[in-house]
Amino acid sequence: MLNEHKKHTDVIHYKIARPKAFTLIELLVVIAIIALLLAILMPSLTKAKQQARRLICSSNMRQMGIALKTYLMDNRDRLPDSSCHIADPDKYWINILSRYLGEDLLFQCPADESKNFVDWSRPLDEQSEDARWSSFALNALLDSQCSRCNGRYNDVKAIRKPQYCIYVSESPSSWTSYDHVHPEMWFYNIDLAKGNVAWDRHSKRSNYLFADGHAELLEIEKTYTWPTSCFWFPDTAPGWPSDE
Ligand SMILES: [Zn+2]
Ligand SMILES: [Zn+2]
Repeated sequence: MLNEHKKHTDVIHYKIARPKAFTLIELLVVIAIIALLLAILMPSLTKAKQQARRLICSSNMRQMGIALKTYLMDNRDRLPDSSCHIADPDKYWINILSRYLGEDLLFQCPADESKNFVDWSRPLDEQSEDARWSSFALNALLDSQCSRCNGRYNDVKAIRKPQYCIYVSESPSSWTSYDHVHPEMWFYNIDLAKGNVAWDRHSKRSNYLFADGHAELLEIEKTYTWPTSCFWFPDTAPGWPSDE
């Protein structure tokens, strides 16, 4: 009996004293498997993150569209203006739309890399000119004082196909103290257009709000390719104007 007990404790002692160690090869294999799993998972995690940002931005732009449609009903179909000919920040389109909905719009697209945005609850002239006004830009051809169109297309009813005419696009992260684009300055050139639109913000696409209030995620080429489609000129959208 005593002997048996001794034998038993010997076994336990043996197990505690000499745990099985990992060999170097085993460790390397484990590390390799972890690295492989990370390599497999990382792209899908990045993709999921991009997808989430895109969805947040799209839904924000749809909110803008709802605000726009409500605003138009109450304002005889006149679109809110950009800052191009207006000095009072309260009358800039982004502030009008965000106030109008009674629900805060996001001024910043989650995929916009810039971190420096103005605080619209404070006076604009007290803030840095290096700050961004928002992640978005209005098509100035639809302004009430647009010199090219004499403000004609500020009235949505005057736009022949508002469902093809872009009202808001996403602006490049480098743009500060600015809230609109001038498509008449792009002169058929897609590279000039790409310099004025954050065309790659959501994996080679970005969000657009159209004058009829609907929002779409599109490649910029779909909106601006000579001679096929141009969604930027209110007089001819989705075609190109004949005077250029
Ligand atoms: Zn301007
Ligand atoms: Zn966006």
